[in-house]
Amino acid sequence: MRRQFVAGNWKMHGNLAGNAALLGDVVAGVGTAPCEVAVCVPFPYLGQCRQLLEVSNIALGAQDCSVHSSGAHTGEVSVAMLQDFGCRYVIVGHSERRADHHESDSLVAAKAERALEVGMTPIVCVGESLAERESGETATVVLRQLQAVTHLLGGQTAGIVVAYEPVWAIGTGRTATAAQAQEVHALLRAHLRKVSEAAGEVRILYGGSVKPDNAAELFAQPDIDGGLIGGASLKATDFLAIAGAAHDKRP
Ligand code: PEP
Repeated sequence: MRRQFVAGNWKMHGNLAGNAALLGDVVAGVGTAPCEVAVCVPFPYLGQCRQLLEVSNIALGAQDCSVHSSGAHTGEVSVAMLQDFGCRYVIVGHSERRADHHESDSLVAAKAERALEVGMTPIVCVGESLAERESGETATVVLRQLQAVTHLLGGQTAGIVVAYEPVWAIGTGRTATAAQAQEVHALLRAHLRKVSEAAGEVRILYGGSVKPDNAAELFAQPDIDGGLIGGASLKATDFLAIAGAAHDKRP
């Protein structure tokens, strides 16, 4: 059984007062959510959010990690540091990092490996740009991105979460249709099945303008196991409504 999973990606949003208000509402309302819930917050707020989540079953995550374990890497944050703050998840390879920081497939794969080494779960993001979709390259791009990770892990994929996030749907209000998303999720699942016996257990999230009014249809698709939620995770009622649309899946 794959437990559905809804993770918020706060990106570079938040402040001490706002975080307390947002998580106060999320913690108060999450009680009956039929899925696992996490929030991936900016580094400086990990300590604050860890405390705010202590009374809940909501997991804490970060939005990136260093590929290095420690050392002279100014500005970098290691997976061990994230662990110190109770992070269970770390997003790697978000399209904004691939674009803003020129992160390559091999770097993203190495970051996923670092996270697994310390027992953290990497949420590995893959997704095509609009130009790539329009030129029929979606499958090639997302499989190349995922394959970099599965190749480095030698098929040991049981500990990862994959997030399919078409770049053209992130923060644009333009969501992939449930059928478009399912088609790509099925491709990703087929690749995982080829390289690992645990493929049926790997959760594949959809991300890209998920909202309360489209979550249920997306999450009902056979290979969609929840969502990575950006903008809507900053509003407690929307985030809770999205989490409420989830349900468990048979492998
Ligand atoms: C994201 O940042 O991962 C994301 C999916 O953003 P949004 O939900 O705002 O499109």
